[in-house]
Parts: sequence; structure tokens; C-alpha cells
Amino acid sequence: MDFTANMYKEILVALKNNGYSFLLIKDFIASDKLPERYVLIRHDVDLDPFIQLEFAEMEAEMNIFTSYYFRYIDKIFKKDIISKIYTLGHEIGYHYEVNTKAQGDSKLALELFQEELREFQSNWNTQTICPHGGSFNPDFNAYGLGAIIKNLPVFLFKRKELYSNWSNFSICRNQNFTDFNLLGDAYDSIDFSEILYLSDTGRSWGKKHKRLDRVQLRINKEVDIKSSKHLIQMIEAGYYPHIYLLIHLEQWKDNFKDWLGWYLAQLIRRKGKRIIFGKDRIN
Ligand SMILES: [Zn+2]
Repeated sequence: MDFTANMYKEILVALKNNGYSFLLIKDFIASDKLPERYVLIRHDVDLDPFIQLEFAEMEAEMNIFTSYYFRYIDKIFKKDIISKIYTLGHEIGYHYEVNTKAQGDSKLALELFQEELREFQSNWNTQTICPHGGSFNPDFNAYGLGAIIKNLPVFLFKRKELYSNWSNFSICRNQNFTDFNLLGDAYDSIDFSEILYLSDTGRSWGKKHKRLDRVQLRINKEVDIKSSKHLIQMIEAGYYPHIYLLIHLEQWKDNFKDWLGWYLAQLIRRKGKRIIFGKDRIN
């Protein structure tokens, strides 16, 4: 089985043993001199803040520090958890979705953005952000099997209501990051021309389920990672000295029942997305 906590640890061990420096996103953006080999690990906290702490502790025990982007919604924005992760030495970023919240009202979206960002900055010295691009409405939990079964009639007959039409991308595009005391965006501010970019969206490293994979550059065009074992082989072979991993830790569950629920949920999500967007998108 792939995408388990153990497999995640194996990836970290392989990176460490093969001389990769683990860089926080903020340090990467701010730095003008980079190590020869490095990896950026970004965690988008979309669904479950509690499981993040377990992984954050595991990373810190291995002397590895990564970047965690938290949504500002009740079930995710748990200050005590975030503070613990921050205290361990990890970076805390703001995973915003203000356009969805403001239903496209851009003035309101900007106000929300500033208000929420202030919370992150005053508590955890947040310097980088990235948008949450989930296609489901924020209050709809479409990820668990139970939720899917409960909402099956809605899925079948009123699918449109489940999806949000508002894109959360690039609130800052017309603004300067410095106006907000930010260093940049965890995706847009990074030049991927020499970086292998991989995302675990849909419990797969492959590209075919990822609509917003805008990284179409040389390195990323030629690579198709089949599994985490394959990724580890690539790390050990040293083909890619610069790697960026987008990881949703909720997906790295060990329990088979959880895994099955996830698998079915992802299938339905993909199908739904295809109907709405023609293609698939990542979160
Ligand atoms: Zn997200």
C-alpha cells in the first residue's frame, strides 16, 4: 500500500540520506544562495488539523522542518495545534479561500484576506501564503465515505450546488506582497524551471488528475512518477537535485478502512470535477 505514514517516513529518510537540505518555503524565497541539493515540502491543511501534529512531531524528531498552510475555517483553524507545530520549528502559512467566502465580492474578499492574514502574522509570524483551490464549497465535507453516502442524492441530482464557482487564485496578483508584509506565494513566487514539482493530490504522484498543474517546464514534462517507491528510486539515483513536494497529510493514512473511504471519495470527486471543469483540478 502506498501513501501511508510509513511510506512518507521512507521518503523523508531517502531525502535525508541522499544529502537533500530541507528548506522552508519562506527561506527559499528569501534566499539568494541555495544549497546544491534541496527539497521543499509544503503541507496544505485542507481537512484535518489534528493529524498534522503527529507528522509535524515525526519530522521534527528527524530534524526536518517543513511548511504547513492552514485554512481559516473553524474545523481547521485550531490555534493550539498550529502553535504547537510552529513551536516545533515548522513554518506556518496562510491557506486562503477568501474569494469563495466572499462569493466573488472582491472588496469583501480583500478585507477578509487582511483580517485573516493578521491573525496568522501576529501568532506565527507568517510570511508566505497560498490559495486553497478546492472545488467543493468550504462547508461541505465531501471527503469521507459517510458524507458521500449521506449526500448521494445531492451528488446525483444537484451536483452544481456542491461546487463553488469562485476561484481562490491570486488574490495578490494585483497587489504587492510587500504591502501585506509577505515574502510571497508558495507556488506563484517560485521558479520551477529547475525544480521537480510533485503533488500527492488524489493519492497519486502522476499528473493525469491534476488540472491546475501549471508547471509545464522542462524537468516536469519528462517525469512521470508511478508510486512513492518510484519517487524514492529517483531520489536515490540523484536525477533531480531540486524537488518540491505538495503533500496533504490527511491522505497518508495507515488504516485500510480509511484508505478505502478515501479511494472511493476520490473517485467520486474526480468524476464530479470532470463534469464541471472538463478536466481535473488539484486543491
Ligand atoms: Zn487546499
